[in-house]
Amino acid sequence: MTDRVGRIQTVLGLIEPAELGPTLMHEHLFFDLRPMHRRAEWDIDGSFANAPATPATHARSRWDWFANIDELFVDDEATVIEEVRRFAAAGGSAIVDCTTVGLARDPQAIRRVSEATGVHVTMGAGYYQDRCLPAAFDALTEDQITDEIVRDIEIGVDGTGIRAGHIGEIGTTVPTERELRSLRAAARAQARTGAHLNVHQSYVPGNRAIQHMLADTIEAVGGDLTRTVFSHMDRTGQDPEQQLSLLRRGLTIEYDEFGYESTNRAWDRSSVQDGVRVRDIARLAEAGYVGQVTVAHDVSFKRMQIANGGWGFSHLLERVRDGFRWAGMTDREIEMLFVDNPRRLLTFVPPTA
Ligand SMILES: [Zn+2]
Repeated sequence: MTDRVGRIQTVLGLIEPAELGPTLMHEHLFFDLRPMHRRAEWDIDGSFANAPATPATHARSRWDWFANIDELFVDDEATVIEEVRRFAAAGGSAIVDCTTVGLARDPQAIRRVSEATGVHVTMGAGYYQDRCLPAAFDALTEDQITDEIVRDIEIGVDGTGIRAGHIGEIGTTVPTERELRSLRAAARAQARTGAHLNVHQSYVPGNRAIQHMLADTIEAVGGDLTRTVFSHMDRTGQDPEQQLSLLRRGLTIEYDEFGYESTNRAWDRSSVQDGVRVRDIARLAEAGYVGQVTVAHDVSFKRMQIANGGWGFSHLLERVRDGFRWAGMTDREIEMLFVDNPRRLLTFVPPTA
């Protein structure tokens, strides 16, 4: 039994669960989503794709999310530190960084941000979705991926000695064969470490089977659904029965797109509004499931930083928190969303494999 069990593993080391205050369960301090770039069909000469990010590209990218390349990555440390300071000033305590391999995970930079701001950060392990998988992925067996995730948690990432504190976000779409291999490895690593697992799922209205297939896949290799979060569930509020069927299996549903209010060229993927998110969560609380809901902003475009006209990491605490009260939730229930649920999920449990 390691000393991780019963504790939370941040990039600066182990902490007691009681030290964790208001927590954002799905963010990206630094990221590189450039493999996701798709030139818009109206961008005949590629001038929009290659333009530096400005208020004009921010606005247009709310419709064509991946059309401008510069919107898709953040590496400026000074800006990130300032953004995280705003979160701390709003009473924020911890950030769960879901940047995995394929999104340019940078342990040293993450650690420097935590040191500079005093905000606890847990780092993720595992792989993001198919389009972002590095070339080396294809040569890896499921066992090797599992070992790599376990090593990231137990020893540290890439020789830095900086340890991952959770697994994910693990990227899945349709899903592809490569994504299923990555997911099975992640769930097996969860069983071996007792870590929390976060899965990026792509909700397709009308296809409820995919989400349950992902859950089946996790269970089949010994993963623990009660310690697993499905990300980006904001849009499933239109299908409450589906949400309940997942909650009954023990899964946690994550509303991690607070602040996203964009329409999108893919109409079925258009974001809902914060008001809808708040009412959905109040409804889940009323149904007795507030212990299985987490919240975040999933900052993953340049335009989402305050410095670039976005809401940043402090939006939930500065503005949305009062909305939960307005929707009829008790202070205790709101505390569960921001504090109790993150503590429960991030605290390592004894391994089962
Ligand atoms: Zn994310």
